[in-house]
Amino acid sequence: MNNGLKVNDKLFQIGCCTDNSCCLCDAVVETQSHLFFECSYSRLIIAAVESWCGFKVDVNISASTTGIVPRRALKQEVHSLIWTACVYCIWNQRNNARMNLVLIKPDNIARNIREEVKRRIRSKLSKETTRTDRIWLRK
Ligand SMILES: [Zn+2]
Repeated sequence: MNNGLKVNDKLFQIGCCTDNSCCLCDAVVETQSHLFFECSYSRLIIAAVESWCGFKVDVNISASTTGIVPRRALKQEVHSLIWTACVYCIWNQRNNARMNLVLIKPDNIARNIREEVKRRIRSKLSKETTRTDRIWLRK
């Protein structure tokens, strides 16, 4: 959020690396904005996650595509959880590519995000979770 991640563009500028290209796509300069919002590899992950969750994954909440309307707070929590998981996994994969020269298929990253989000949601369900919210979550 504070543009403080040590992406290749920053590392290159201070002489810590000789290549400022993106670790994930190797096509353009790796800036923080590119990594999370423009990179073709990251976009494949986010597209797969969007296909699964049914709403657009970005910094703003979009309308539900299901017809079942959960509590706004629940939807915000789920959206935040998905967004955070995407950012974490993209950054983790970027570091894996940079340090270990390993690039996992975007679909596999998206699958990991999906499973982690499901696990976290299940752990937070309580008796106060309404039937409508449970139905929305199931979908
Ligand atoms: Zn890239």
